[in-house]
Amino acid sequence: MKRTQIKNLSEKKGEEVLIQGWVDVKRDQGKMAFFDFRDASGKVQGVVFGKHEVLEQAKELRPEWVVSVYGKVQERNDKQAKAYREALEEGKEKPFFNKDVELEITGFEILNKAETPVFEITESTQEINEEVRLKHRYLDLRTERMQKNIRMRAKTAKLLRDLLEEEDFIEIETPVLTKSTPEGARDYVVPSRLTPHHFYALPQSPQQYKQLLMSAGMERYFQFAKCMRDEDLRGDRQPEFTQLDMEMSFVTEEDIMALNEKLLINLVEKLYPEKRIQQIPFPRISYKEAMEKYGNDRPDIREDKNDPNLLAFVWVVDFPFFEKTADSDDPQAQGEWTFTHNPFSLSKPEYIKDLKAGKNIENIIAAQYDIVLNGYEIGGGSIRAHDPEILRSILRILGHSDEKIEENFGHMLKALGSGTPLHGGIAWGFDRLMMILQNEKTIRELIAFPKNGEGREPMMESPSKITQTQLDELHIQLKELPKKTE
Ligand code: ASP
Repeated sequence: MKRTQIKNLSEKKGEEVLIQGWVDVKRDQGKMAFFDFRDASGKVQGVVFGKHEVLEQAKELRPEWVVSVYGKVQERNDKQAKAYREALEEGKEKPFFNKDVELEITGFEILNKAETPVFEITESTQEINEEVRLKHRYLDLRTERMQKNIRMRAKTAKLLRDLLEEEDFIEIETPVLTKSTPEGARDYVVPSRLTPHHFYALPQSPQQYKQLLMSAGMERYFQFAKCMRDEDLRGDRQPEFTQLDMEMSFVTEEDIMALNEKLLINLVEKLYPEKRIQQIPFPRISYKEAMEKYGNDRPDIREDKNDPNLLAFVWVVDFPFFEKTADSDDPQAQGEWTFTHNPFSLSKPEYIKDLKAGKNIENIIAAQYDIVLNGYEIGGGSIRAHDPEILRSILRILGHSDEKIEENFGHMLKALGSGTPLHGGIAWGFDRLMMILQNEKTIRELIAFPKNGEGREPMMESPSKITQTQLDELHIQLKELPKKTE
């Protein structure tokens, strides 16, 4: 017999079916036994009654055992079934638990037994110790809340792909093994065996590659890109996270902002119709005004902060291009100029002269924009310097010697000088956007296998030691760790 997914059982009233899934709940009532069965598509109640042999076998079943269940689909007529049907008639979303029908069980097959789970799968695991959840992530992900989070993430990504394709974007993968780039954070590095004593870096973002794709005439690029930054894990950071990364040629700041606004509105309307966007078009605030009024550059402008369905988008614009590195960890770097977004940006047109001349540096405003939602920065980008001389001048302001500029950015300067269109882009923090849309408190709730607060993954136990053979192949000798001082 072919398997029926639980969500399709309503279409098979009166028929004999086979379902396959997990025992969710068992209620043994002596002469009868009730079960809830679960598969990826839904839940349904099953009942064994009168069939002595089946009943005896059914009593052995435990939660989380994997089973094949044979039975007849019966329409339910209790209170819950009525409430279920009424909700559907009102046009509400189909609940995960199908209460329209139940299964009159005629037989079972145990496909796999399960140890008693370390926490309840039938309830939200929000209150369970996170280390325990991460150690048993495959169990955690079985819960309805986590299933929803992961499925909505996939649905959202799919919708965005479709919308971007309609706008003539193409999805292009860029390398994960790449070169160390100066994007502001520390790089994760990977030793090369074939070129000993040399290292790849994992991308902090595909910034240079996406710009090189504009040099390559692709015009409109996007990618769901993994970005890796070796930063201290303050707050809700992950060592690796996902950006929806975009770059466009022949555009202005206005074009990029308009397109992104359209994408975000479309996404909310199609996948989150219960949510309300506070203001369309999205309001804009300058960096200066945001700092003066809210004390930060990601203002939460919600008119009602208790409303989980209110989305207050705001663009933050007119960022200073450079700032002094007064708070740098490196005492040598203190007092030097650094970039506020990335070194590849362009200034607003009226400051291009200053940018070229390296004058009036503290007043130069970048052609840069951040998109903020409910007090979180969910994306940021800029128009880029497409003239190699401007990029060279920016890199000089940032303190790079001409020799270093050639060594580290020669390829960018060459590409820009090879006929590169004016271009600009943006990247969204996709995990964070999904966190807000799903009303969750951390991005870990939206990532299937996140790292914990110390950057470790407790289930596989990464990072981990490697063998001496592996080290020898890489010509790596480990230094002794400094002794811990009590
Ligand atoms: N690469 C930038 C970032 O990661 C985004 C951009 O400018 O497109 O923040």
